[in-house]
Amino acid sequence: MKRIMTRAAGAGVTRRGLLQGTGAALSLAALGATPSRAFAERRWDLVIIGGGTAGLPAAIEAAARGARVLVIDKAPQLGGTLHVSTGQMSGAGTVFQARAGIEDSAEAHYADAMRINRNTGDPAITRLWTQHAGETLNWLAEHGFDIGEDQPVYGQAHEPYETRRYLWAPEGGRAILEVLLRLLEPHVAAGRVELMLSTGAVELIKTRQGRVTGVVVEDEDGRRQDVQSAEVLLAAGGCAANPRMYEDLHGVPLYCQAAWPYSQGQGLMLGLGAGGQLHGGDRYLGLFGAVMADTWTPAGLDFSLGLYADSRPPWELYVNVHGQRFIREDEASVHERELALDDQPGHRFWVVFDEATLANAPSLVPGWSEARLRERFEDHPMLFSAPTLASLALRAGIHPRGLEASVAEYNARREAGAADPLGREYRPVSLDQGPYYAIQCQGWTLVSFAGLMVDDSLRVLDADGQPIPGLTAAGEILGAGATSGKGYVGGALVTPALAFGRLLGARLAAGSA
Ligand SMILES: Cc1cc2nc3c(=O)[nH]c(=O)nc-3n(C[C@H](O)[C@H](O)[C@H](O)COP(=O)(O)OP(=O)(O)OC[C@H]3O[C@@H](n4cnc5c(N)ncnc54)[C@H](O)[C@@H]3O)c2cc1C
Repeated sequence: MKRIMTRAAGAGVTRRGLLQGTGAALSLAALGATPSRAFAERRWDLVIIGGGTAGLPAAIEAAARGARVLVIDKAPQLGGTLHVSTGQMSGAGTVFQARAGIEDSAEAHYADAMRINRNTGDPAITRLWTQHAGETLNWLAEHGFDIGEDQPVYGQAHEPYETRRYLWAPEGGRAILEVLLRLLEPHVAAGRVELMLSTGAVELIKTRQGRVTGVVVEDEDGRRQDVQSAEVLLAAGGCAANPRMYEDLHGVPLYCQAAWPYSQGQGLMLGLGAGGQLHGGDRYLGLFGAVMADTWTPAGLDFSLGLYADSRPPWELYVNVHGQRFIREDEASVHERELALDDQPGHRFWVVFDEATLANAPSLVPGWSEARLRERFEDHPMLFSAPTLASLALRAGIHPRGLEASVAEYNARREAGAADPLGREYRPVSLDQGPYYAIQCQGWTLVSFAGLMVDDSLRVLDADGQPIPGLTAAGEILGAGATSGKGYVGGALVTPALAFGRLLGARLAAGSA
């Protein structure tokens, strides 16, 4: 078995080594150890499948209470999605709020989260994460995590909270990871936490009575081995890097590839295989308005448009494939716009405008000059221009008569001073000066909404709603829908992953899950 951290080997591991997974490999080589045999005889108090956002705090808390912990990760380095995540978090009663003079409570955070997602989050799980969010952020702060003086804020890109409880570090998720690795390091050095990198969990081991007692792991060379443990924590993330599974579980294609590449949904399958059940795929909701790099799915995200009415009131029209408008373009609620896009064919729309708008409106792409945007119309597969609306529609794949009718109605009502049928109030210009332009925008997401069902102690539930003994879960494996609902509540994935990891680490070490 490669890259097993033995007690002695741990002493020489650096933080950089932990990040890159090289420390473990080098130490083993130096020892000339034959870890497989010794390893097979070991029995851990806690095996954590996935050394990422939820798994690392679990390991830290369990080890701090004297548990012997094994962290298995399929990737060659620890950290999981924290390597790519924006790392925005939210919590009430934080030191960051205190220094800004903001009063807040977990109860208010809970109510606000459920307001934003219109009560589509799981109430028990939402209550649990909002109750423990503040202490989790304070724990990070105590160990060196910091943010800019201008924070916390109400919101950023998602529907804002009613108070300032939302924050992130300039380095994003990596700033969180830095703190976690610093806290993990002494436990690894002391042999309380052992690491098994580049090794995937492929099956859970169960007794006849149904208790999970371990996991079968497979290394990069396909060699398998059993690992025995009193408790197993599934923290292997979601499936937002697995297009086929994503579509199966959500009924929606994975339009954009932006997740941690190891988010293949293997943890979900392990849970299912052990008798667990999945739910929450129907809570899928796409983010509004990004331009993909290519026409196929999943595509890479190329750039985003500045479609926030409060920072840039819209000059353009938004139409679906039928050429119909579907939302007032000056709608301020991010959540409202995401819900409207959810009903559109292919979860896509086109931002349509004319030559006068391109020449005179504030930049549609934050930070781009007019010349730069014009240039992209020459070669980008999602940007179209044509002398007439009908030819624009044909090039872009929009219904031509629908588009012509929508633009004509918008112009006529605007010029007559009549009310807009969708309630739009900001109507600076008519769209009547060719050439015309269309930018295709795709609803997209970074996370999987489907996840394993758990009880309010985070024990994985079987088909009868009974906890599977020995098996708990934390992180995106619970499904974004559990903590964020059908919507994007700020920080509703990173914060619960960290908070639940900590909770379970402490509880499982005490043997009371
Ligand atoms: C680009 C991006 C930006 C985001 N921004 C935000 C944000 O600002 N705020 C927010 O709240 N959420 C955000 N999210 C979501 C959030 O970051 C994730 O939901 C969260 O980090 C997931 O934590 P996790 O512990 O469940 O998974 P991870 O952190 O991904 O950890 C899972 C670990 O399991 C490992 N693994 C997978 N399969 C196996 C296996 N079979 N055996 C062993 N190990 C395995 C993986 O390698 C990984 O290390 C973002 C997501 C992305 C992709």
